Amino acid sequence: MKLIDGKEISSIIKKEIAAEVAELIDAGKPAPHFAVILVGDDGASQTYVNSKEKSGKEVGFTTSVYRFPASITEKEVLETIKFINEDDEINGLLVQLPLPEHISEEKVIHAIDPSKDVDGFHPENIGKMVLGEATCIPATPSGIMELFKRADIETQGKNCVIIGRSHIVGSPMSILMSRDSNPGNATVTLCHSKTENLKEIAKQADILIVALGRPEFIDASYVKKGACVIDVGVSRVPDSTRKSGYKIVGDVKFDEVSKVADAITPVPGGVGPMTIAALLQNTLRSYKRQEGITQSCK
Ligand code: NAP
Repeated sequence: MKLIDGKEISSIIKKEIAAEVAELIDAGKPAPHFAVILVGDDGASQTYVNSKEKSGKEVGFTTSVYRFPASITEKEVLETIKFINEDDEINGLLVQLPLPEHISEEKVIHAIDPSKDVDGFHPENIGKMVLGEATCIPATPSGIMELFKRADIETQGKNCVIIGRSHIVGSPMSILMSRDSNPGNATVTLCHSKTENLKEIAKQADILIVALGRPEFIDASYVKKGACVIDVGVSRVPDSTRKSGYKIVGDVKFDEVSKVADAITPVPGGVGPMTIAALLQNTLRSYKRQEGITQSCK
């Protein structure tokens, strides 16, 4: 069984980005700069934003985090986005989701300048992704594609089953895996909560990508022998043996599925760090396009 080590692969990507940033700065260019908007005090969101900020600094980016209380109005968030859109010194902007209920995620995502949308959620960028045009691709699916590339996982001609159809993970993942590209060129089935015979379908998969947000839902009975399993799920479950009182688990029962699969991502240390690496890649691409170094967000 091969453990697909997202932590290690992401640290290689970060070193590559850091080397490129150092070269740009030596050449007299400004450092790439991304901004994050964080609303409210959700613990998981704060952890994600802190690690995005830390990783950005590690590679030599400038980072700005705009922290607001949950009571902020939608209008104020939209005004902040407009301000960042108009700031030529900021190359990338992401708004940490989820947002409080009184703020429309749709309005917020639509308000981001597509050329700064390093999360790749703006409809213009989603449209370009579907058409196979160069753009910023949502960070989690982009990070998974990078894992396939760098861990030498063959996807061409394979049967790929994706469980979960969210706009940020499952749906874009299905587009990327069915593209005429490498990685890609897979035959894709996209499953969701209304899928009948989920287990039988999952068992057909050479590549099983799980993103449903249910801790350890997928056990060995869902997995074909020799499959490659990508576990996107991140859930906190109570664990009295830990100081924090919880542990992080994925959507897959790692202990039993790792005995059946040929390759598997761990949680933590699999897809999570790759999402951040992909966000940094997206920021560097946006920066290069804005600086006229490359023509497109390739
Ligand atoms: P989401 O928006 O809640 O979507 C969950 C999807 O799973 C939906 O499409 C839902 O179907 C489907 N689903 C739920 N229960 C199911 C069942 N019993 N059988 C089949 N399908 C089922 O979740 P998300 O935002 O994609 O996130 C999924 C997980 O990935 C979460 O644990 C999240 O924390 C994690 N995540 C991790 C990263 C990372 O970087 N590691 C990034 C993003 C998300 P319906 O559409 O029919 O409701």
